[in-house]
Amino acid sequence: MIRLWQGRKFRQEERLAGTLQWQAMAQMMENSCREKEVELMNVREKLEAWEHSYLCEYASFSDRSKGRMVSEPMCDVRTIYQRDRDRILHSKSFRRLKQKTQVFLSPEGDHYRTRLTHTLEVSQTARTIARALRLNEDLTEAIALGHDLGHTPFGHAGERALNEVCARGFKHNEQSLRVVDRLEKKGKGLNLTMEVRDGILHHKTTGTPGTLEGKIVQLADKIAYINHDIDDAIRGGILSEKELPSACTGLLGNCTRDRLNTIVHDVIASSEGTDTVTCSPEIRQAMTDLRSFLFETVYTNPVAKGEEGKAKRMLQELFHYYHAYPELLPEEFMFMIEQGEDREMVVCDYIAGMTDHYAVLKFREMFEPSSWKR
Ligand code: MG
Repeated sequence: MIRLWQGRKFRQEERLAGTLQWQAMAQMMENSCREKEVELMNVREKLEAWEHSYLCEYASFSDRSKGRMVSEPMCDVRTIYQRDRDRILHSKSFRRLKQKTQVFLSPEGDHYRTRLTHTLEVSQTARTIARALRLNEDLTEAIALGHDLGHTPFGHAGERALNEVCARGFKHNEQSLRVVDRLEKKGKGLNLTMEVRDGILHHKTTGTPGTLEGKIVQLADKIAYINHDIDDAIRGGILSEKELPSACTGLLGNCTRDRLNTIVHDVIASSEGTDTVTCSPEIRQAMTDLRSFLFETVYTNPVAKGEEGKAKRMLQELFHYYHAYPELLPEEFMFMIEQGEDREMVVCDYIAGMTDHYAVLKFREMFEPSSWKR
């Protein structure tokens, strides 16, 4: 009996050992297949897989993009949003931002913000928030870098100038979209993804971006301009730190660094784990109060804005001139009119794309008699 029992037990153990061995082998094969699969994946596919393992559930995943208006083969290194970011960064409109006004018209001082440095500050703040919330940083960066591409020369004064003369009106966010869709690459456009286009179009306070990454840029734009416009106004002697509303500085801090830090921390704490991007009611109120304060003291300040009337008249004169003589427009804009685009809109496209410096140059060329040089 004992021998029989021992024999059965041995066979059971043998079977169990065989099963375990088989399971281990199956696991090894599965692991090796997985490793082979990963080995076979290109860099972009690995990045897309990483997004699914790391980003939060509310993030915009690169491999779930709604895609482009004209479909293209995928890059083997960069995700679809990284490509959009690079297209914007390499565009001519992006480079022209360096000579476009932020608040102070064509400032001579090297330390004042321009539209380019504003864009970079928006991008930095937005990326910090996106990374902390485990949202898609590449999409955020692409939207941030593209959001002001349609801004006119001479800041909002330029925007108001074109809005008055163009029958359809003029809004810089709509123009930013037109730049990436229609004007860049000599009329071919950048063919960006729907998510980046949506974020660019809806970045203004009144807009409703369709992604959380777009919402981050919308908020980061405001965080950036409120803080750097205060800094530039202090630099320009328009304001002093002591004049800022004490209720705001008491809550946010007494210097740009502290205020930025407080607001960014608040946005992250208020948004983490939720399906939105927001800040606490107290911080929102303090930002609103600071913005109103800037409107009263800086954005409408006769010293800071004394030259705006001239800039506005100059752009409107240019508009009427090019509208009357479209043959003076560069070839690619003439071609757009020949293709049936509205002449007013094309003239707006050309003027909105100018830098402050180039607008003055063109105005002089049109209206200032040149001296005899021979
Ligand atoms: Mg902006």
